[in-house]
Amino acid sequence: MSHRQSLDTICIQGGWQPQNGEPRVLPIYQSTTFKYETSEQMGRLFDLEENGYFYTRLANPTNDAVAEKICKLEGGAAAMLTSSGQAANMYAVLNICSAGDHIVSAATIYGGTSNLFTVTLKRFGIQCTLVDPDAPAEELDKAFQDNTKAVFGETIANPALVVLDLEKFAGLAHSHGVPFIVDNTFATPINCRPIEWGADIVTHSTTKYMDGHAMAVGGCIVDSGNFDWEAHRDKFPGLTTPDDSYHGVVYTEKFGKGAYITKATAQLMRDMGSIQSPQNAFLLNVGLETLHLRVPRHCDNALKVARYLKSRDDVAWVNYPGLEGDKYYDLARKYMPDGTCGVISFGLKGGRKAAAVFMDKLKLAAIVTHVADARTSVLHPASHTHRQLSDEQLREAGVDPAMIRLSVGIEGVEDIIGDIEQALA
Ligand SMILES: *Cc1c(COP(=O)(O)O)cnc(C)c1O
Repeated sequence: MSHRQSLDTICIQGGWQPQNGEPRVLPIYQSTTFKYETSEQMGRLFDLEENGYFYTRLANPTNDAVAEKICKLEGGAAAMLTSSGQAANMYAVLNICSAGDHIVSAATIYGGTSNLFTVTLKRFGIQCTLVDPDAPAEELDKAFQDNTKAVFGETIANPALVVLDLEKFAGLAHSHGVPFIVDNTFATPINCRPIEWGADIVTHSTTKYMDGHAMAVGGCIVDSGNFDWEAHRDKFPGLTTPDDSYHGVVYTEKFGKGAYITKATAQLMRDMGSIQSPQNAFLLNVGLETLHLRVPRHCDNALKVARYLKSRDDVAWVNYPGLEGDKYYDLARKYMPDGTCGVISFGLKGGRKAAAVFMDKLKLAAIVTHVADARTSVLHPASHTHRQLSDEQLREAGVDPAMIRLSVGIEGVEDIIGDIEQALA
């Protein structure tokens, strides 16, 4: 096929390509192992001399088909699934950073990722400088060091709903000869394809909109294949010099645009093993088949709910990047003109206490930790994820004590608004 397929078609038919007489639906290869006729054949797989399956920790046909679908949706060159979004971000960084290295990350990122970068990776000897994503480029430039190896940010930050200026961050990363890694979980490739704006590597928590039904925890890493590792070979010896654990293979020489993902599979998956189970990959694929239908509906519903909240006298503030007048409205129009996401944050005039009472009164929206699935859900960070912090500490962490995080689902929007209305009353 010469023309680029529409995202709708890729959602349905991308990835699994059945041959004559094979199942139309992606099968679950519920097998840890794969059979060979000769010991020599198997040996060649271990040497990365040939492509093939031998053990599901390294590769599985169900997982590969789903990774291929996400790769096509993002417009990448190669992709892999991981057991979770956390594993995806960890591998994305560890694949190019070792002890003594440094990364620059937007400060407004998912709490789990922030903890990974500033606490756990620090124990591995990797330092992270968190930066204000809205600072001018000249200011952000000061965060770079000689040992900086990557720049990280989220397209739409969870839960701050900050829209990242992708071109600004890509320009900074590239001026320092390092790749730009973007977590595109909230926007999804339906609304934004960061590679088209200069991102080199895209990660996902597929647990959210991609699965979309709150059934399976998972993650994905997509490599654009665009970053020229060879041009900065001193910074990335892991990709550009022989790997002794694979008979001296040089990933960039042998795998070209597949170098980054092949290395992550061959080394990190082999040694750390955060694989997605084929069962979960199958469920993820079912979710992906309707991603192009669900995401616009999440956005339509969320915009209506945001406008409704904004019109209420008892609501103090509303953050939603798709809402006219929002601080990030212009960036959202630029990078995601068709819509942003289904998550809104807002505060009630009654503050923290009113938030708890309001949430207890909701009937349709459930109090859950999860976001970004078909069902409307709600969370009060001050009472839940950040409950150990005082109001002052909360503000320092960028969380307003009154903040309610509302993940708008794809139910009838009049029912969602009706539920909010009765709870506010
Ligand atoms: C949830 C989330 C993660 C972590 O993903 P898990 O699948 O829960 O491990 C990472 N980044 C973002 C933006 C998220 O929303």
